Amino acid sequence: MPDVRYVVLVPDGCADRPLRALDGRTPLEVSVTPHLDALSARSEVGRAAVIPDGMPPGSDVGNMAILGYDPEEFHTGRAPIEAAAMGVELAPDEVAYRCNLVTVDDDIMVDFAAGHLSSEQAVPIIEALSAAFAGDDVRFHAGVEYRHLAVLPGSAGDAECVPPHDLTGKAVVSPTGASAPTLIDLMERSRPVVAAAAERVDATANQIWLWGQGRSPVLADFAQRYGVEGRLSSAVDLVRGLGVLTGLGVVDVPGATAGFDNDYGGQRDACLTSLEDRDFFLLHVEATDEAGHQGLVDEKVNALERWDSEIIGPLVEGLDRLGPHRILMMPDHATPLEMMTHSTDAVPYLIFDSERDTEGRPYTESAVANLPPVPGHTLLPRMLSRGQLTHYTEFVAEQWSRHFRFTSIRLRARQPLFRSWRCRVRHDPGGSFSKTRSWHPHVCASGPFRSQHGNGGSSKEIPQRTDNNSQGTRRHHGEGRDTRPG
Ligand SMILES: [Zn+2]
Repeated sequence: MPDVRYVVLVPDGCADRPLRALDGRTPLEVSVTPHLDALSARSEVGRAAVIPDGMPPGSDVGNMAILGYDPEEFHTGRAPIEAAAMGVELAPDEVAYRCNLVTVDDDIMVDFAAGHLSSEQAVPIIEALSAAFAGDDVRFHAGVEYRHLAVLPGSAGDAECVPPHDLTGKAVVSPTGASAPTLIDLMERSRPVVAAAAERVDATANQIWLWGQGRSPVLADFAQRYGVEGRLSSAVDLVRGLGVLTGLGVVDVPGATAGFDNDYGGQRDACLTSLEDRDFFLLHVEATDEAGHQGLVDEKVNALERWDSEIIGPLVEGLDRLGPHRILMMPDHATPLEMMTHSTDAVPYLIFDSERDTEGRPYTESAVANLPPVPGHTLLPRMLSRGQLTHYTEFVAEQWSRHFRFTSIRLRARQPLFRSWRCRVRHDPGGSFSKTRSWHPHVCASGPFRSQHGNGGSSKEIPQRTDNNSQGTRRHHGEGRDTRPG
């Protein structure tokens, strides 16, 4: 049985901006969430930059960061993550594209989800595509509702594609780049096939939309990386795909959906059951994001209130019965209702530790607006290692060793919260340490050091392995970054 249980709660896209319809407040501010309020009052509540600078604010990027994998290092595209969820294997020389069934009229993206057709309606449409394109170098795989997959040769991956949900109500924007002609040809030729097949199942889809491409990413096994084993629950393929790619078990909850009818209680019970024999559980619900995309204020508020009454309240009670636990809660990005799509805004996060009360603050956008944003991918390891200086500094040192050459690092925690650590690095074994300098204050932000190690801080020398080539060959932060989704 686990000593400490770790739960990550992901209300997809729940963060927002002040809304006129809510008198200048956000859904997090107006929703009635007594259980969340009680939790956040005892938690570290801060502001997370989930989406790295220059990357698209997709759920693939955000959820990868939430699992503690730096998207700048690991992300190759959205579609290959969903391919993993669907059990579609990609050869190293293949590229997967997301293949939405969409409704486009007079070159306007009327509906990126083709009226949210059912999976039963979608399957015959994808089958019709497979038959019609049998002679082409492409294969189609049916997914859920409007979300499907097209696998092409790797040479067809060089393109800039606009996600269809960013085009809602606007003129379509065709792909650009070397592979654009191939993609445009496929999408145009899909029109008569999709329209005819959709008519037979009474759906409004009238073409495919290709985007989010990438080759299969290589993600280190979660249990090996963090020393905890776990599972996750989500109705969304890309979150389930991250589970497959990181070796987390993916739990099927029959009533879990990507819509407003989601079975919150079913997911909560699956979480509590899983925690009886595993350390870790990630619980992801799509409804808040869906409300954002549809611009439905009431549905977003309602989804947050269902999170509170059906997940957080009973979940915390259940966790209290199981023993010591920690909770990390954060969305994978914001989906502001007025934008009706994702934004790169920093979002509120919460870390709760049942063994340590912290002076918290409300879990709202405004309550954290003045805090410096913490990189989103540092929060999961921070929750896991909270209060354990050794593990945490080793993690920080490992992160830094990716960006800077050094063989040893000596860290001294100085100021407790959102201040710097003094850090000295040694470039040669046996050489002298460089001058003291401050590093990544946002990475070093850590309340626990104040209570554990007093005002004077604590120092720790961590030898870095020199038997791998990660220190010399990895690119420096931000250098040569490829911001395309593929
Ligand atoms: Zn999302």
